[in-house]
Amino acid sequence: MASSVYETALLVDVHCHLTAREFEGRVSRVVGEAVETGVAVIITSGLGYQDALRALEISDYTRIYPSIGIAPYELEGYEDVLGLIERERSRIVAVGEVGLDYWRGNRDQRALQQMVFEEFIDLAKSLDLPIIVHSRSAGRYALEILVRKRAERVVMHAFDGNASYAARAASRGYMFSIPPSIARSRQKQKLVEKLPLENLLLESDAPVLAPSRDEVNHPRNVKVSAEWISRIKGISLEEVEDKTTRNALELFRLKV
Ligand SMILES: [Zn+2]
Repeated sequence: MASSVYETALLVDVHCHLTAREFEGRVSRVVGEAVETGVAVIITSGLGYQDALRALEISDYTRIYPSIGIAPYELEGYEDVLGLIERERSRIVAVGEVGLDYWRGNRDQRALQQMVFEEFIDLAKSLDLPIIVHSRSAGRYALEILVRKRAERVVMHAFDGNASYAARAASRGYMFSIPPSIARSRQKQKLVEKLPLENLLLESDAPVLAPSRDEVNHPRNVKVSAEWISRIKGISLEEVEDKTTRNALELFRLKV
């Protein structure tokens, strides 16, 4: 029953990559450690067709759920990923991560990135799935496209843009997932200052975005994100855990 989750304030990692090379042969240990830290649900994101198949395979659909997307700077074969999302609609909990990367992507690929992003938004909308958005050095542009396409169920993951753009998107109901790298990012700290708790989720983005640089990140570190949110907002850790879990369960329509 859902209420038991709230009583024990279990955490949800809305975005990570359990299929990453760093976790090869160690997924059950990594998940076990997360569970010990209080993580109830992990959403693992497959990037590209092959990785998406692995994400589907390692998901147990009780604690680990898959989302399927593609890296904006490696779009080859994206049509197959669209097809896979359609076929696996009943097993996945979100489309993503997908989006725009103006940091890694070539300037002349931006039009292609935008076009593909729009196709994924259209598909997510037609399948009534939330979309987990990657935006690197492109936050404003990603938000513009999402608003223009009237996307509603949106997670801006590890948003690196301006907090005032984020606040405007939050007023439309867009959600922002906060990674453990908040421990070393003034920009993420500002984001949390500016956004209401109603719009916040926890993510690890493991194996990247660890609390300290050059460290392999783990889903258990969503606890670090929660602690920072609690400190910045001057509210109890329990309230942060409770609310971010409610936000996640509601957005992804998960029954725990
Ligand atoms: Zn990611």
